Amino acid sequence: MLHYDLHCHSTRSDGVLSPTDVVRRAASRGVDVLGLTDHDELAGLDEAREAAQEVGIVVVPGSELSVTWEGETIHVLGLGVDPRDSPLATGLAGIRNGRDERARRIGEALEVAGIPDAFEGALTYVTSERLISRTHFARYLVESGHVRDMKDAFKRYLTAGKPGYVPHAWASLSQAVTWIRGAGGQAVIAHPGRYKLTASGLRSLVAEFRDLGGAGLEVVSPSHTSAQYTEFAALARAHGLRASCGSDFHGPGESHLDFGDLPPMPAGVEPVWSDW
Ligand code: AMP
Ligand code: MN
Ligand code: MN
Ligand code: MN
Repeated sequence: MLHYDLHCHSTRSDGVLSPTDVVRRAASRGVDVLGLTDHDELAGLDEAREAAQEVGIVVVPGSELSVTWEGETIHVLGLGVDPRDSPLATGLAGIRNGRDERARRIGEALEVAGIPDAFEGALTYVTSERLISRTHFARYLVESGHVRDMKDAFKRYLTAGKPGYVPHAWASLSQAVTWIRGAGGQAVIAHPGRYKLTASGLRSLVAEFRDLGGAGLEVVSPSHTSAQYTEFAALARAHGLRASCGSDFHGPGESHLDFGDLPPMPAGVEPVWSDW
């Protein structure tokens, strides 16, 4: 049986390993089919594909798109997209564009909260001039001793209602699904257990997503408990959606699950790769 991991990040967004090192690590830990899904970005895929040929695994070209749906940030994975598709590339460039201005404002907000120079500090962790993320602020806050760890950085400073949080309007759900489908890919709602939605809010997101042409739900994710694997498998089935799995790996020591450690998909779902 092939081992699939369809969600991870490299230095082209907020991961700590280069696309080559991501692929090598995944291969050495038993992954056969790896989706590289940098946030709002496709730039690591050529390098990842070359590395994949060297180590004999398959890289699925992907991206994790930032979306705003009813005021909440939702992540939508595009799997199997054509990296040369121009509407997708343009759409992603548009999503990335807002990040610089937002990062400056996060820096200002943290300054008001008593943490000076956080923007400059975050920049020292940025590994692609095309993309700055809250993760880079979190790494700076940890290293500068303002917080204990990444989780603490988000909990105390970087999430809604906290002093360094700056609300942001990303792409719409419909734009994201349209770009992904237009590029020949499958749209998958990432880590549905992470959103601050009620059960009925989540059902309405999933129903709208399915009606827009969405293909699947990420059922197995380190963001989920094993009870949630069962819950989201049922949710996918109920809406005629397929199921995906991914480690959401960002770097050694930073992620809950390393490559190769994903538990199996629950029984009774159709995997997103069933016709690959
Ligand atoms: P951004 O797209 O700039 O808003 O940053 C979102 C990223 O922050 C996610 O992709 C995660 O990598 C990271 N993140 C969000 N919440 C947490 C958390 N509680 N602990 C660690 N990382 C987080
Ligand atoms: Mn991330
Ligand atoms: Mn995500
Ligand atoms: Mn991710």
